[in-house]
Amino acid sequence: MGGRAGSRARTGRWRPGGRELLRLVAAPGTYRCRRMTLEQPVAQELRFVSPSSYETLVACPLRLAFSQGASAGGRVSDAARIGRICHSVLESLAKDRRLTDPEWRPEVGNRFDQLMRSEEARLGRQLRGGRLARAKLMKVAARLNQLLSGLTAPAETLTEVELEAAEGRLRGRLDLIVRSEMAHFVADYKTGRITEAGRDDLIQRYRRQLMLYACLEAEAYDWPRSATIVPFGGEPVEVDVRPEDCRRLLEAVLSALEEWQDWQGKSPPARPGADTCASCPYAPRCSSFWGTSDLVWADDLLAARGVIGHVSRSPLGGTTIGLRSQQGSVRGDVNVRNIDVAEHPSLASASAGDTVALVGLRADRNEGAYTMKAGARSRLG
Ligand code: SF4
Repeated sequence: MGGRAGSRARTGRWRPGGRELLRLVAAPGTYRCRRMTLEQPVAQELRFVSPSSYETLVACPLRLAFSQGASAGGRVSDAARIGRICHSVLESLAKDRRLTDPEWRPEVGNRFDQLMRSEEARLGRQLRGGRLARAKLMKVAARLNQLLSGLTAPAETLTEVELEAAEGRLRGRLDLIVRSEMAHFVADYKTGRITEAGRDDLIQRYRRQLMLYACLEAEAYDWPRSATIVPFGGEPVEVDVRPEDCRRLLEAVLSALEEWQDWQGKSPPARPGADTCASCPYAPRCSSFWGTSDLVWADDLLAARGVIGHVSRSPLGGTTIGLRSQQGSVRGDVNVRNIDVAEHPSLASASAGDTVALVGLRADRNEGAYTMKAGARSRLG
């Protein structure tokens, strides 16, 4: 986010202590405000971690506690739905041994189209991004075809296999394992970007994920000779899985799991930060987020929370919400335009006087005007 957005946020017409300021009532673990409750969930029992839940635990233990709650989950993005479809296509092709079949191309397309059609029929709408994902899936299938066709000895090919290590305290689901006398490797497909923003370096959590997959495979069978990330938008990347490094990481994972036990029944620590919270689905209802985020965050994450003054709906379905924001990195009188209620169903019933929380705004050219970015999150009290 550029400085322009930040400076605009700072010049918003915010009147601290105005009449509409919500009365926050301190109660253990909870702030109550008009028609909306922020949350600070407690840590529940955690018997094992996966590579991804370990990353969540390290980034923000409170986020992991949120994910354990009954209302965890939240809205699934179109990109995530299509990503699952791509995984299913590759899994089924590998299982049916069709990835090395001369007719693999039409098979990939047919399976993808079929799953897309049934998902769209179930949702009653079209998924966004299907065409590009289909083209990328073809490329990944071509790479896998190359990889598997190049095996010179009979190989055992396992897909979407659940493995565990360290007496079940680490568990993971591996996309692909190939075991043969000549080759022994684990592979993971990635539908999104695999390098750090603005750099060529592999995202570190993906490196750790593959290292932990190597630990899982080592305990189930033998130490793999290599581990590969197969991205949908680029060339495969090999990750170094030296046993001593991987074992050291596994020890860190088990220590983090051990530490969690001390927090059980209590609220675990929160580690709010613009980077961490930007991708957190629980931000709209997280008391630590709203208690910490302020105008300084505006260059990295725009978020507003306050009472709605007016709502207007266009005949084409776009909704505009005007609110007076008293928390977050955007303060003052704010107009959020062109909200797609298919993306934010809870906002379909928004009306004046409701409290609303919006995370992931984009500053418009006009003073105090915003739109919702792709992947923005919202909550109505
Ligand atoms: S919003 Fe931020 S502080 Fe709250 S749970 Fe998510 S990552 Fe943690």
